[in-house]
Amino acid sequence: MPRGPNGLQVEGRARVQRIVSGVTASLALIDAAIADGADAILVHHGLFWRGQDGRLVGWLGERVRRLMTHGINLFAYHLPLDAHPELGNNAQLGVRLGLMADAHFGPQDLGFAAPAGINTSLAALCAQAQDALGGRAPLVLPGDGRALARIGWCTGGAQGYFEAAIAAGVDAFVTGEVSEPQAHLARETGVAFLACGHHATECFGAPAVAAHVAERFGLVHRFIEIANPA
Ligand SMILES: [Zn+2]
Repeated sequence: MPRGPNGLQVEGRARVQRIVSGVTASLALIDAAIADGADAILVHHGLFWRGQDGRLVGWLGERVRRLMTHGINLFAYHLPLDAHPELGNNAQLGVRLGLMADAHFGPQDLGFAAPAGINTSLAALCAQAQDALGGRAPLVLPGDGRALARIGWCTGGAQGYFEAAIAAGVDAFVTGEVSEPQAHLARETGVAFLACGHHATECFGAPAVAAHVAERFGLVHRFIEIANPA
């Protein structure tokens, strides 16, 4: 999972009354926030990542220029927003899948695991995931068709957590993206794998935090969805 600075990434005006949340600080989201009259944007995917060369040119320069020209603050929370036990992406997806985490796995314990609850079969889990994610059907690697006793999940690009999920004893793993190796692992271990969309699985954390902040400080909050098929 890439790392970046958490919190205020671009400083805008000092007084904040309207806050827009979204998944990614894309130009489309920034423009929508400008149109909304926002003073601040809160996202999961910010602008700066470890390993970038740091030059504000091209598309990155344009995003920063747009924010600074309009005095908009940009707040970004990456791994802390995956990990937060109540407002984070994983916790919020768990609520929508009927899952209450009782264990964690993988790098930095970002993987969540829980008893399967209502999702006792792969078909039931797929239906629940599709329902929770706005009708989007997951890409499914079915495993060996076993009944589900425990389910692991980690939102976004967490396909690399599949092995740790298997080692943690889950019968199915839910994440956003899939890569080639997971197909073989699902076949050879019998553990099912669901890729439900990186964007789709990470739509819940940022608005949950922004709504919490808005309520606490009496701000106006609006989540703006910028559709993303990936
Ligand atoms: Zn992500």
